[in-house]
Amino acid sequence: MYADVILPLPLSGLFTYSVPTPMQDKIGRGVRVTVPFGSRKYYTAIVTRLHQQKSGNFVIKDIHSLIDATPVVTEQQLELWKWISFYYMSAQGDVFKAAFPSPMLPSDLQRGYFQKSEEQFRVNPAFDNDAISTAIKRAPKQQLLLDEIIWFLTENERDSISRKEIKELNGYSPVVLGGLIKKKLLFSFTVEKSRLQQEIASCRSSYPLSEAQQKAIDAILQCFTDKQTVLLHGVTSSGKTEIYIHLILQQLGKGKQTLYLLPEIALTTQLTQRLREVFGDKIGIYHSGIDDQERTEIWQKMLSGTPYEIILGVRSSLFLPFRRLGLVIVDEEHESSYKQQEPSPRYHARDTAIMLAHISGAKILLGSATPSIESYYNAQKGKYGLVTLDERFGKIEPPRIRLQNTKDLRRRRKMKTVLVPALIEEIDKALENGEQVILFRNRRGFAPVVECIACAWTPKCNHCDVTLTYHKKANRLVCHYCNASYPLPSECPSCHEGALKLFGTGTEQLEEEVAQLFPGAVVARMDSDTTHGKDSFERIINDFQENRIQILVGTQMLSKGVDFGNVRVVGIIAADSLLNYPDFRSHERGFQLITQAAGRAGRREKQGTVIIQTADPEQPIYRFITHTDYEGFYQSQIEERKLFKYPPFTRLISIVIKHKDEEKTESAAASLSQLLKQSLGDRVLGPNKPIISRIQQLHIREILLKIDHAYSPGQVREVIQSAENRLRSHANFKQLLIYYNVDGI
Ligand code: ADP
Ligand code: ZN
Ligand code: ZN
Repeated sequence: MYADVILPLPLSGLFTYSVPTPMQDKIGRGVRVTVPFGSRKYYTAIVTRLHQQKSGNFVIKDIHSLIDATPVVTEQQLELWKWISFYYMSAQGDVFKAAFPSPMLPSDLQRGYFQKSEEQFRVNPAFDNDAISTAIKRAPKQQLLLDEIIWFLTENERDSISRKEIKELNGYSPVVLGGLIKKKLLFSFTVEKSRLQQEIASCRSSYPLSEAQQKAIDAILQCFTDKQTVLLHGVTSSGKTEIYIHLILQQLGKGKQTLYLLPEIALTTQLTQRLREVFGDKIGIYHSGIDDQERTEIWQKMLSGTPYEIILGVRSSLFLPFRRLGLVIVDEEHESSYKQQEPSPRYHARDTAIMLAHISGAKILLGSATPSIESYYNAQKGKYGLVTLDERFGKIEPPRIRLQNTKDLRRRRKMKTVLVPALIEEIDKALENGEQVILFRNRRGFAPVVECIACAWTPKCNHCDVTLTYHKKANRLVCHYCNASYPLPSECPSCHEGALKLFGTGTEQLEEEVAQLFPGAVVARMDSDTTHGKDSFERIINDFQENRIQILVGTQMLSKGVDFGNVRVVGIIAADSLLNYPDFRSHERGFQLITQAAGRAGRREKQGTVIIQTADPEQPIYRFITHTDYEGFYQSQIEERKLFKYPPFTRLISIVIKHKDEEKTESAAASLSQLLKQSLGDRVLGPNKPIISRIQQLHIREILLKIDHAYSPGQVREVIQSAENRLRSHANFKQLLIYYNVDGI
């Protein structure tokens, strides 16, 4: 008997091993085995097929050991993996590795899963009250701690207490506790402990829906009768989350599971609180902030007889084993962070979720206030159902959005700070009323540009083709691509004459200036520099929610999905920088970001104000934003996409070529492009030198394919792979790195 297995390595294709006789009646599809491979002793692999044919004439090695008695991967998961690897042109091994928490793949290098244990203490039953008194007569500190422990146990109706809990008690010190143990008044033992949060009771039922919300739900359910996918286009603060909660309740009633996808961990914090109120411990949270051991327990729980009914997570939660999936919700479906950039598999979680729903026979709801052009197009074409919700919950007026022309204000010498006078005025008013303010700037650090005043030299990263940003607190120049940092030179290293000057305002500087402008307010900053620690993000969100912060400065991190009731003013600083990317999606992104950011204002009771600072207020996109005119915006974009043959009218595949040597990179890219053009003709664009053409010592070239829908993914894949094989047969391209990014964004 032979078994084909997937190895957690970036290799395409399956590997065949022979199954030792004693293992033959125990092995099956979807179980883990360990197998020898290469120079390493063993890897954990997944069995995908059992058969009798020995193909080829080479020696087939034996499976080393069998890990599982029952499958840890379902048939549906195997099917999904296969689709991802096919569609996104990535190795099955990469998909396997991305899917599994690493402790489930023990190997020579990697530690496996281990049960968590905890030390517990019990009062020795051999001692009665008298015996206790005698034992600690002259030790009042021990007496105090023991009393506290006994009180704790009685109060909580428990018979043992953990070390962590003892540490919280009055009179605890390691010496005192040690004394009690030495006298054998306390004895300790270890228990195995689940890492999962348990027994969290739900504490509210869902809210009754507004009329508009009820109508939306009815429409969604109606659409689901003949469509698998529905797009819910609901303006910010229309109460989409509450709609999701009602839909999940219906699934629970039918005994079905729900997967609730969010684009980023940052958003899970608030939503977890909101959903736990209703669903208690029926809901499991799954993302990269959860440690690997706990992720393993979640996976195992999903395979058990009592799986989570609801999973809230980021894109990786697609890979969990669901057995009764009824509904997938993709919240903020337009978010580009749904696309995995690095490493392979470079999958889009929204599109993969649609495939997952298809394989599982589930329904899928995409939700957004600013749908992606692709999804809206699919809804227009009738491929998806479309449900629109255009009033805010509580019929609150949408925020008033005002443009402020910074170029003009500067010319008239009206701009004395980074903030325009109108924004300062609004902030003053909000602070007076005890209301809050959010300010957005999409660049972190202190100053985005550092330049010599004499010769215009600017510092660049040694590893990447990127100019450096000055960070004041660290007093260093930082590369935002690879995080390398450098000291700030005291004079220009190029001409040795000029001084270095800082230009532009990043979030760090904005925070500093705002704190000076509003000395009475507490100002805080949220960007990837201030949210390094495990709970720092949560802390900032909570402090803001509970009014301990009045003005919050942040990057786009802050613009999505968070629900703060008391925010009256939102300011968007240097809005144009959101639009000026040389990318066909830059206006779509800008529209989404500004609209979402604006949506944080006035979410409850009172209308909010949004001020957009721009040097170019004539940009047509600002009219769509200030009029909350999604339709108009969509029309303008879709026409452009059609004209220039961009998605949804074509599929984009970018081919990225990397090598240490620039000449080799260039000639490889040119040859590959030639080879591709032989069959794909003018669908092949480039090779191009990307704006950032060197990252971490590697030179980069890109070839872009615009594939019309006449070509199937399978056909294109074949053409590309045969071109790559032909290129690779040239000996001098050995160290070449090539990868594909399908539907890149
Ligand atoms: P969206 O996700 O569309 O931006 P939310 O679901 O966050 O909107 O709702 C906006 C606000 O309105 C939230 O504070 C939410 O708690 C409240 N809300 C929404 N629907 C209801 C309801 N049916 N009853 C009470 N409060 C609601
Ligand atoms: Zn200089
Ligand atoms: Zn760098």
